[in-house]
Amino acid sequence: MSLIVQKFGGSSVANPERIKKVAERIIEYKDAGHQVITVVSAMGDSTDDLIELANQLNARPSAREMDMLLSTGEQVSISLLAMAIQAKGYPVISLTGPQAGIRTNSSHGKAKILNVQTDRLEQELANGKIIIVAGFQGISDKNEITTLGRGGSDTTAVALAAALNANVCEIYTDVDGVYTSDPRIVPKAAKLSVISYDEMLELASLGAAVLQPRAVEFAKLNNVKLHVRSSFNHNEGTIVREVEDMEKDMVVSGVACDHNVTKIALFDVPDKPGIAYQLFDALAQENINVDMIIQSHERENRNDFSFTVGRDDKARAVEIANQVADAIGARGVAYDDTVAKVSIVGAGMKTNPGVAAKMFEVLYRLNINIQMISTSEIKVSCVVDDESADRAVVALHTAFGLDQLEQ
Ligand code: ASP
Ligand code: MG
Repeated sequence: MSLIVQKFGGSSVANPERIKKVAERIIEYKDAGHQVITVVSAMGDSTDDLIELANQLNARPSAREMDMLLSTGEQVSISLLAMAIQAKGYPVISLTGPQAGIRTNSSHGKAKILNVQTDRLEQELANGKIIIVAGFQGISDKNEITTLGRGGSDTTAVALAAALNANVCEIYTDVDGVYTSDPRIVPKAAKLSVISYDEMLELASLGAAVLQPRAVEFAKLNNVKLHVRSSFNHNEGTIVREVEDMEKDMVVSGVACDHNVTKIALFDVPDKPGIAYQLFDALAQENINVDMIIQSHERENRNDFSFTVGRDDKARAVEIANQVADAIGARGVAYDDTVAKVSIVGAGMKTNPGVAAKMFEVLYRLNINIQMISTSEIKVSCVVDDESADRAVVALHTAFGLDQLEQ
């Protein structure tokens, strides 16, 4: 007998038919003799609907009341799923995050899980029950309901798998697994059978959106093996685990594209200590996430700064850039949101030289201008104009040998 923790996303429990299918799937595991804990998200887009509802009453609701509201979405899906399982005659109990012992800090809307008190879960498992847990929520030491940030049910599932030492944490979603690229852009994109935590983290933060990045970090830290797979078929999906460098036969595992990018530039900034601090501290104070940063070569004691932020943050970031530019005596600010970030990701880059050069060659042959570049040990990203991005992704997928993986 083994313990399996699984998570079903909103699309997998969007309506009664789908909930029944999830119930059947859980029962298959139970019949095979396993213990099962299933984490679910709110039905379909119901979290978005709740946010919309809140906004009709208050443009800036408090984070505490927002958590009170949003946590109800998952309470609907856990109880309905438990009822569907009861209807088949199996012992089951649904638990909210607090009932399941998920303790978090007090950061409403983006709470971090501190620990899981497993007594109740262990007791229900010992009683032979299937357990359905509400994803995305927990309770703080101030006895307040908290939520973990959008997509947080993934993190709930990983935390439970870590706390209970589960054999695997299955993440059920509406795609077959993690792909080498977005199949809507690259028809030859193929499902990867294995990917490392680090590669998955890069792809998750690049907008591949199959897993919440924090869930991947948590899994890596606690060595929880993830299996990302479809809730609509029984195909094997993608395993996310530690991968030894020696095991890597591909240099690049994925090509990603992020259109949620705005480029902001400050011109003729005085070249002296403290300027970067002033600008990026002001952005950080406003909770704006800055991605790439470039400082140009100094000329006559002046240089230029450019950086990128998500498009949602554009207005505020430009406002702050203007204020800082005035304060420090920069000549001006410009922004451009007709750009996209194209990235190649692969743990094999660490040991293979020339990967970045090859990417630049591909873009050059397509006559695509590179506006910004950033790299990490396992990633190279280029900002290019929005309209060229898809062409770039398709060509890079071919150039790095990923078309051949097609099944
Ligand atoms: N229901 C929450 C959301 O939509 C949590 C989740 O789906 O994981 O973000
Ligand atoms: Mg959701």
